[in-house]
Amino acid sequence: KHVADKIAAGEVVDRPLSIVKELVENAIDAGSTSIVVEIKNGGKSYIRVTDNGSGIEKGDVELAFKRHATSKIRNASDLDSIQSLGFRGEALASIAAVSRTELITKTADEKSGIRIRLEGGDIAEKVDTGCPEGTTVIIEDLFFNTPARLKFMKPDATESTLIIDFISKMALAYAQIKFRLINNGNILFSTTGKGDIYSNILTIYSKDLGDKLIHFKEKSQELTLEAFVSAPSQSKTNRKSQIFFVNGRSIASKVMENAVTDAYSEKLFEGRYPIAFLFLQVSPDKLDVNIHPNKKEVRFDDERAVRDFIGSAIRTNLNSKDA
Ligand code: ADP
Ligand code: MG
Repeated sequence: KHVADKIAAGEVVDRPLSIVKELVENAIDAGSTSIVVEIKNGGKSYIRVTDNGSGIEKGDVELAFKRHATSKIRNASDLDSIQSLGFRGEALASIAAVSRTELITKTADEKSGIRIRLEGGDIAEKVDTGCPEGTTVIIEDLFFNTPARLKFMKPDATESTLIIDFISKMALAYAQIKFRLINNGNILFSTTGKGDIYSNILTIYSKDLGDKLIHFKEKSQELTLEAFVSAPSQSKTNRKSQIFFVNGRSIASKVMENAVTDAYSEKLFEGRYPIAFLFLQVSPDKLDVNIHPNKKEVRFDDERAVRDFIGSAIRTNLNSKDA
C-alpha cells in the first residue's frame, strides 16, 4: 500500500538534509517568525522542526500526509504566481513513509491542538493535546524500514555539516525569522529575527571571521548588491567563507567567485581568499534558476555584466574603506 510513497520518498528524501529542508520550507510557508531545528546523529536518529506559524486545522492533519495533498495550490493558474517554497504536496507523505513521524499542531482559532504519530506512513496514534500555536514535526529513525537507503547515509558528522550549512544560509536569507539550531543537545546559534544580516553573520560564523567586515550596498540599473567582505589582511586559505545569495536564495556561482577574485587580484597572494557574503538582486527575467535540479546554481543572461559590477563594487569599497 505504501509502495508508491516509498518510491516517491526516494526522490524527495534522500538524506537527513532533504527532510530538514522540506520541514523548514513548510515552516516558512506557514508564516513563522521563529523556527527551531534540532538534530541528533546527523539527523539520522532525530530531527525536530518547531515553528510558530499558522498550524494545521485538526480536520486537515491526516490530509497533510496524503501524497499530492497541498493547501498551497487550488487551480492551475496558481502555478504561475506561486509564492510558497513548496507546492507539490509530497514532502510529508514521503518523509512519513520512511520514518517514525510525529506532528503536533494548533491553529490560532482552535482551543486545543492535535498530535499524530505515524510509523512508516501508517497512523499509529491521533490525540487531542494542549500545545502552543504552530507546528512541531519530529522525525525519528529515518529509513528504519528501507535498509538499502540506510546504507547510503554518510557518517553523522558529514550529514550534520550539510544541515548546519543549510540552516546557516537560511538564517541569513530570512533574517526576519528567528532561527535556533541545536545539534546533539548543544545550541549552535540563535539569531534575533530582527532582519540584521550583519549581526546574523557574526552570530553564525563568528569563529571563522575574526575582525570586522566591510559592509556596503551598490546599485546599477539592473543589479543591486549588499556585501560584507573582509579586508585583504583577513584572507583565508579556502573559499568556505564566500557565500552568495541571488534573489534571496543561497547559490554556488563561478561568476560571483570570479568577481571576488578580480576585486582582490592585486591585494592577495595566490591561494588566499577573502571572506565575502554577497546578496545580489537581479531582475528574474535576466536569469535562469532551473539549470540545476537542486536549484543550487543560476545562469545570468549577462555574466560579464554581473562579474564587472560586483568586481568593481568591491574594489571601490575596499579602496575607500580600507585605505
Ligand atoms: P507542500 O509544502 O508541497 O504543500 P507538504 O507535504 O510539505 O506539501 O505539506 C503538506 C501540507 O501540510 C501543506 O500544504 C500545508 O498545508 C501543511 N503543512 C505542512 N507543514 C506545515 C507547517 N509547518 N505549518 C502549517 N502547515 C503545514
Ligand atoms: Mg512542503
